[in-house]
Amino acid sequence: MKFFFPDSQDLVDPSFDFDSENRSVDRLRHRDDTYAHEVFTSPAYDGLLVSKGIVDGVSGGGKYTLAQRHRLLRVGARDFFRLDSSPDRLLPIMGDCGAFTYFREEVPPYTVDEVLDFYVECGFNFGVSVDHVILAYQPSWDGPGESLAPQEARNRQALTLQLASEFLTKHRSRHLSFEPLGVAQGWSPNSYAASVSALEKMGYQYIAIGGMVPLKTRDILACLESISSVRHSATRLHLLGVTRTENVEAFQNFGVVSFDSTSPLRQAFKDDKDNYYTMDRTYTAIRIPQVEGNPGLQKRIRAGIVSQERARRLERACLESMKQFDAGECTIDDTLALLSEYEDLYSPGHNHNSVYRQTLTDRPWKHCACDICRRLGYHVILFRGAERNRRRGFHNLWVFYRRLHRELGSLVDGSEISATRQRLPDLFSWDARND
Ligand SMILES: [Zn+2]
Repeated sequence: MKFFFPDSQDLVDPSFDFDSENRSVDRLRHRDDTYAHEVFTSPAYDGLLVSKGIVDGVSGGGKYTLAQRHRLLRVGARDFFRLDSSPDRLLPIMGDCGAFTYFREEVPPYTVDEVLDFYVECGFNFGVSVDHVILAYQPSWDGPGESLAPQEARNRQALTLQLASEFLTKHRSRHLSFEPLGVAQGWSPNSYAASVSALEKMGYQYIAIGGMVPLKTRDILACLESISSVRHSATRLHLLGVTRTENVEAFQNFGVVSFDSTSPLRQAFKDDKDNYYTMDRTYTAIRIPQVEGNPGLQKRIRAGIVSQERARRLERACLESMKQFDAGECTIDDTLALLSEYEDLYSPGHNHNSVYRQTLTDRPWKHCACDICRRLGYHVILFRGAERNRRRGFHNLWVFYRRLHRELGSLVDGSEISATRQRLPDLFSWDARND
């Protein structure tokens, strides 16, 4: 089972000083900042997924500057992501259209030729056909008689299949070297199976299942089970954008060989409580927002409800207290009292004390072997600014990768993660649509 990490230009600045919170004045973002695969000395994912919609910035969701986009197309993805700078990092790259970036449009904003050209220019190893997401999941539309699925859902499924057919035909006539994946869209187990069957008839041997983001594990399993009734044994499946992977062994038994998910990264700074992964549970990160960077607090300061001077003093005191706590120079209760006083200022009526107590009692950052935690220490657990939050996301990717392999009983770096094979707990209660 291969885990592809969807790129969204998440990089960290190695020159960032966590005590002074300053950067090197010489820092050049595109030259000096590092990707997760450059930060770790052992793998955190098996490949990258690059979406045309993210690169192009469809509907304002772009993460690339114009200069970055041009550079990606000019030098190719391997060079752009510096994948070959380390000989054991021959990560494959999969390209797709990023259908979630244009789901509101009536039809996809790209032609098949534009997408094929994009994949060729980037030099991807795998390329996913052009698709259009069906946002509804409604098995009851498949009654005993005629389908009750709305015309729009049926149109999107038919269009996705038509585009997949054109994609494969042109891929063959142009003698392209990347492996093509056809996309199956549906609204129910039966409709997904029908799509997979149609794609197999076209000649696809690797099929991506789209529209998985909002689906619960039992829905994903129901679809995979239905697909298994039509799937040829040689057909491999990829799950596009899953947020739930707690039953990955069952996915594998249904022919899933790969998936992609942004959840481990995003939960580090989007989730209310599951911010820091360990092999057996998650912890809540300790929030110490910057006075200047917190809109709610700034509003209260401007309204004269909160004194700016007091807010700054508490912010500094919380940071200092975490430093002392980490060094064994103050107690959990001392630190919690300050955190609680500060939280009252920036988020009145909320209190994270009970979950913070668990985090501070267990000090999980002290037991993690990843490069981030070893280098960063307690800063990794602070919910504060992109440099810390993104690094905690990288740590989550690294841990997630090891949990995945433990569940599958497979090896990382030539060794088994643990003799005991445990199930992944329901990790992804978080819903990517809230992003
Ligand atoms: Zn770590």
